[in-house]
Amino acid sequence: MATFAARKKSVEKEKRHIAILGSTGSIGTQALEVLEANSDFFELEVITAQSNSDLLIAQAKKFRPNTVVIGDENKYSEVNDALFPLGIKVFAGQDALAQVVEMEPIDMVLTALVGYAGLRPTIAAIKAGKQIALANKETLVVAGDLITRLAAEYGVNILPVDSEHSAIFQCLVGEFHNPIEKIYLTASGGPFRGKKRDELLHITKAQALKHPNWVMGAKITIDSATLMNKGLEVIEAKWLFNLRQDQIDVIVHPQSIIHSIVQFEDGSMKAQMGLPDMKLPIQFALGYPQRLKSDFERFNFANYANLTFEKPDYNTFRNLQFAFDALQKGGNAACVLNAANEIAVEAFLKDEIGFLAMSDLIAHCTDKVSFVAKPNYEDYVQSDEETRRIATQYLN
Ligand code: NDP
Ligand code: MG
Repeated sequence: MATFAARKKSVEKEKRHIAILGSTGSIGTQALEVLEANSDFFELEVITAQSNSDLLIAQAKKFRPNTVVIGDENKYSEVNDALFPLGIKVFAGQDALAQVVEMEPIDMVLTALVGYAGLRPTIAAIKAGKQIALANKETLVVAGDLITRLAAEYGVNILPVDSEHSAIFQCLVGEFHNPIEKIYLTASGGPFRGKKRDELLHITKAQALKHPNWVMGAKITIDSATLMNKGLEVIEAKWLFNLRQDQIDVIVHPQSIIHSIVQFEDGSMKAQMGLPDMKLPIQFALGYPQRLKSDFERFNFANYANLTFEKPDYNTFRNLQFAFDALQKGGNAACVLNAANEIAVEAFLKDEIGFLAMSDLIAHCTDKVSFVAKPNYEDYVQSDEETRRIATQYLN
């Protein structure tokens, strides 16, 4: 029996042990589907949510992770009462989030939580030597310099989950020694593609929440409507692939079939394509370097007579230009951009400001928040706080 137990343990250790931060969100729930379909390959150790205790409890009962974290401390008793009898450990609060990622059995942390909240646990996970499957692009936007330095120092891979960055990464497999000349990030253009500023004045929350090709969490859906999502992705790409700003271009491709393109120094371009389904990039990051077999729907050329491309409209969608400006400025500029945008999106979702006013708020913060040329972690925390304070004053 002892031999059997030892063997079982060693087989289990061959599996990849995963923590999912933000398991109740759009990326988190799809990641659980990927794990369920590949249970020979993955073992779930940790799941977390901010306030959706019902879904977190249901997920824990189904997937039996070792540990769960609920961000909202008021919900601790409810979650603990439901899961303690099953032998599942329950913790609450932001500190717990940064601590659970350090747990010994975890091999890889999927950061599927939204916003600035991802920064601290991602740093903790890197320092604990865990591989990162990164969906939480805000972390790289806020502190890309710090995160990439830490990842190099601790020998940690940051594997992109964002579909465009996964596409670029997939194009680079086998090419890591060949310099990139340029990348083209594709953008669907969002629900308001082709519209001008006067047509966007009275856009409602409901209209902005309808994305043509992807079903996602509320924040990224609004970011996609303003093209801020693409702006954040430009900054994310800079850090993931060590690029200069002039090596990154954005091209609108409304069908969302080509997920992005790399151009090499001989002029050759490689693109990755497929139907828009986040499960594929999630699975590629979690399973890397293996491509796990899947039954995801396959692309059929007969259904797409045209794949089209156009230039983004930087005058109407000012946020995309702001992101390039922040990249140019460097220092804490992207951290300020991110915080201002989080406040702007929150205010828009609460019907406190209009669609175009989101960009006004961001421009105001960019103007007012103190510039730090070489920020450390504390500087990022302070810049984030200062921006939120200035943004909130502007709104009141
Ligand atoms: P969702 O809003 O659907 O889910 C967010 C998750 O994070 C939920 O589990 C939520 O818990 C949790 N959460 C929210 N706020 C906090 C907080 N302050 N602290 C800790 N946890 C928190 O977002 P998405 O899944 O759409 O996006 C997640 C990340 O992935 C984002 O950074 C996004 O940009 C990125 N991404 C998403 C894509 C998509 O298709 N959705 C595509 C590419 C990137 P609760 O449910 O309790 O609120
Ligand atoms: Mg994307």
